[in-house]
Amino acid sequence: MSTAVSADWVLPVDGPPIEHGVVRYEEGRIVQVGPGRAERHFEDAAIVPGFVNAHTHLEYANYAGFGDGMPFGPWIRTHIARKRQLDAEDMLAVARLGALECLRSGVTTVADYSFSGAAAQAAAEAGLRAIVYLEVFAVLVADAEQQWNEKRQRVEETPLVRIGISPHAPYTCSLETYRYCLSLGVPVGTHLAESPHETEWLRNGRGPLEEIGMFLVPPPGVRPVQALEPVLGPELLCAHCVDVDDADVRVLAERDVPVAHCPRSNALLGCGVAPLSAMRAAGVRVGLGTDSPASAPSFDLFDELRAAVYGARAAEQRADALSAAAALELATIGSARALRLDAAVGTLTAGKRADLAVVSLAGSPYHPVEDPAAAVVFGGSPDRVLETIVDGQTRYRKAEETEWREVRNIASAARARMLGSPQPPLP
Ligand SMILES: [Zn+2]
Repeated sequence: MSTAVSADWVLPVDGPPIEHGVVRYEEGRIVQVGPGRAERHFEDAAIVPGFVNAHTHLEYANYAGFGDGMPFGPWIRTHIARKRQLDAEDMLAVARLGALECLRSGVTTVADYSFSGAAAQAAAEAGLRAIVYLEVFAVLVADAEQQWNEKRQRVEETPLVRIGISPHAPYTCSLETYRYCLSLGVPVGTHLAESPHETEWLRNGRGPLEEIGMFLVPPPGVRPVQALEPVLGPELLCAHCVDVDDADVRVLAERDVPVAHCPRSNALLGCGVAPLSAMRAAGVRVGLGTDSPASAPSFDLFDELRAAVYGARAAEQRADALSAAAALELATIGSARALRLDAAVGTLTAGKRADLAVVSLAGSPYHPVEDPAAAVVFGGSPDRVLETIVDGQTRYRKAEETEWREVRNIASAARARMLGSPQPPLP
C-alpha cells in the first residue's frame, strides 16, 4: 500500500518545481512525483528532498561556543581538553541529541566523522541515514589498524547506517595511514586544507598546530592538497578545502575528489571562505555540510544554505555567484554525489528512497511564493520543518518535539560536566 504527502509546492531538484504537487511512496521507495493532492496535504508548505549533510560530528551536538573567538590551533586544543571529561555514555547522549537536531532541520542523511563511534548507534536509533566514518589519528599504520579494530567492534551496520573510516587530517595522519584506510574497502573521509594554520604547519613545521602533540607527522614542506595528492581520488571525501589555490582546485577536479563545503564553520573559526564558485566551475563534486556545533554552531542546514549563498556572493561581488536553487542542489543531490549515494537519495525521483522534508512557508516574507527555492533557502528554518521522512518512515514531526526533553536534559548534563559547573535542566 502506498503513502502520499502533498503540498503547495514540491521541489524535486532534478526538475522544475511542481505547484500543487504530490509525492507517493511505497515500502520506503518513491513511486510517483507530480501534480496532485493527497489526503495528507500540507497547506502553505514545500516538500523538498531530505537534506544530505555532507559533514557532521553528531557527538559534538552541544559543544557550541567552546573557545569562540580563538584561532584554530588553541580552539582545537580547548575541544580536546573538554572532550576528555566525557565517558562513552555521555558521548552517546550528546550524539542522540545531534541525530534529533539533524532530523529537526530536515536532514535525512549525514556523513559523520565519529571519535567514539557513538554516532552510529545514535543515527540507527533515530532512523537517520548515515555513513559514520570512525576517526583514526595515526602516523604508524599499526596504530591506525589498532584504533580501527578497536572502534569497529563497538559499532554495528544497519540498513541505514554504513561504517567508514576517517584518517583525521594530513597533520595527524601519515600518507601510509591514508593508504591503509583506503585499502579497507569502506567509505573514507578526512579533513583537508581547513585553516591557514594547517598550511603553515605542513609547509614549515611551525605555528599553533605544533602544540597539538604526539601524532604529528614530519612536515612535508608543501601545501595541504599537495601533501595528500598521492592518495586523492573519488574514494576520499574531503571536508573544508578552504586554503586551496587555483592549482589545488585543478587537482581536486582532475582527481574527482568529493568536497564537503562548510561555510559557517570556516567563517566562525576565521579559517576563510572556500572558493566555492571556482570549485564548481572546475567540476569538483561539492556538497554542503554543517560541520558540528563545536564550530558552526548548530546543525541548522537552512542557516548553512544561506551562509553558502552569502559567502559566494560576497567573495565574488556577484549576486549570481550562487542562486537559491543552486544552493538547494548543493545540499541535496550535490552532497549525495559527494557521498556516492546519488543513485538512492538527493532528489525526489521515482525509484529513489523516500527521504523528504516538509517545510512550512506560512507567514514567511517569501509567501505568497514567487520562487519556491528562494522561499525554502532564505525563508526556511528548523522551526519551519513540519515533518522529516527517512526511507518512507516519519522520523520527526514538529508537533511531537516535547518527546525530546529527556534526550536534551541528559545531553545538557554532559555539557555541564564539560563546563565544570552545574546547569539547571531545561523547563
Ligand atoms: Zn570536522
